[in-house]
This record gives sequence, C-alpha cells and structure tokens, in this order.
Amino acid sequence: MADTSPAVGSPGSKGYEPDVPITTSPMFDWPPRPVATLRYLVTPVMLPYGVWWVALAALTWNYLTPSMERMASLHPGWMLQIYVRNALILAAVAGALHLALYMRRAQQQRYKYNRQWMSTTNREFLWTNQTRDNVFWSLVSGVTIWTAYESLTMWFYANDWIPSVGWSSGWPYLSVLTVAVFVWSVTHFYLNHRLLHVRWFYDHAHYLHHRNVNTGPWTGISMHPLEHVIYFSVFALWWVVPAHPFIVILGGRCRTRGSSASRSAGARGAPRRAPTTSTICTTATSSATTATGPCPSTSCSAPSTTAPPRPTPGCASA
Ligand SMILES: [Zn+2]
Repeated sequence: MADTSPAVGSPGSKGYEPDVPITTSPMFDWPPRPVATLRYLVTPVMLPYGVWWVALAALTWNYLTPSMERMASLHPGWMLQIYVRNALILAAVAGALHLALYMRRAQQQRYKYNRQWMSTTNREFLWTNQTRDNVFWSLVSGVTIWTAYESLTMWFYANDWIPSVGWSSGWPYLSVLTVAVFVWSVTHFYLNHRLLHVRWFYDHAHYLHHRNVNTGPWTGISMHPLEHVIYFSVFALWWVVPAHPFIVILGGRCRTRGSSASRSAGARGAPRRAPTTSTICTTATSSATTATGPCPSTSCSAPSTTAPPRPTPGCASA
C-alpha cells in the first residue's frame, strides 16, 4: 500500500521521525563488548568529531587561558576573562547554528521533530520569547557556573592542591584520559539526569529546562541555576583524579558544545509541568548532531516510571 502520509515539513506532517529503533553505542552493552567499544571510541567519537574539540581545547589552554601565576590567587580579573572566553565560544557555536537553522532556515523543517519554530508569544518564557529566554539562562546562569567550576579547578592546580600530571612524563596517561573525558562526560550526564528526574529536583529545577518542548541551539544549557550546579559538577572528578588543565577545559567544552548541536532539531511531546512520576527520556540524533558530532539529544516524551535508556557516548546534554 502506498504511503499517503504528508511529506516532512508539509502541512499536516508530524515532523521528522527517525528510523527506529535508534541505535546506541556498544559502550554500555551488557555483557561488555570491548572490541566494539574500542572501535566506537576511535570512530565516530574521536574521528572525525572528537579531534576538533580536542584541538579547540588545546587552543583554549595555550592561548585563551590566564597564566598559572595569575590564577594562583582568587581575583575577579582572570575569572572574568574565562567567563568572556566561554561565553564567546558558546555564542559562536549556538549562535551560528541558530542563524543557519532558525533564522535563515537553511534546512527548513527537514529533520525537525517539532514543526513549530521558536515561540515569541509564550508566557512561560522570559519576555514571552523562547530564544531570548534560552540565551538568558545559558549566559547568565550557565556560563557563570561553568566558569566558577573551571576557575576553582584552575585555582586548585595553580596552588598544587589537587593532583596533576605533566605532558612530558605523563603523555601516555593523558592521551588515554583525553578519550576517557568523552566517556566520563556521558556517564556523568546519565547519572545527573537520573537525579534531575527525581520528583523534588524536577519540580524545583529541571522543569525549567523541560519547558522547552521545542528545542533549539540555545536550549542545551538553558537551565535553572541548581541544575547548572549539578550539571557542571562534571569538573569535580579532576579534584581527585590526576589530570591536566587541558583535560579540564576539554571536559567543560565537551559538556557545553554538545548541548547546542544536539538541541538544534527539536523534540516532540515533553511535559510542561512536573510529571507525577519520573519521566522517560529517549535519545535521538538530529541533523545538526550529524553535522557536528556524535552527541545525543535527549527528549522526554511522557510521564513514566520507566528508567531512561543507556547513554550514548560523545558529549552529553540534558
Ligand atoms: Zn530531563
């Protein structure tokens, strides 16, 4: 029987529907699949996507980070420098995607789960404008708390209060850690997202993120400050595990760039208010995700007691 459903993007279409079941990585399979996992970490996690973020982190550490001498004492000057750098990088990624996909609408509604564009009349959002609301929470709360964690960690390094490893003697260990950052990021994301769907955390914090039924590039870290504190606790691993400031920067970049990319297509059917039970979350890839990295987009569909699925590696987003 011929398919008579309307074309994606045409009036009456429900929007983009990816092939199902959506495949997940072998990284969290049980029983373990070590060979498949290693192959997956090489490609697509590191090649081609991961190397771009590693390169950006190296550039950031070598040229866009204050000296360790300056960071040895808590001073607002160098922390402001890190804030501005982080804000500009986030704005460059999210802004470019917003410009291409939502202002110029280069792909129109292809691959867009929700056919609507960003709301400009919804009172749930600040100034009734979803994009402005998302930019506000991302830059005012998100980048501030991200910068606070990063600055605190750098201050610890500068005073030798946490264990560190140098590249000259520890390059094999740090090379492995460079890949492990991607695994840690998604594992931490899975755990913190489970926590955020506990009723109290959802009602007091995570609801703000899930107002964004229709997601865009600025939605990724548009969150309540309490959620940002939990979300960016990904940095805390480096307070006990020996690492290097470059690894810290890569982890922060990984946590924030994936959100913009994976939020660019949108999601369908998330609850606007706290669910009566925990909420099932599904993973899906978007057109922008395919273009920029192997990062999953998670979207909540309906209240359920079912646990979220296993995480997909790459940089994570809530
Ligand atoms: Zn959620």
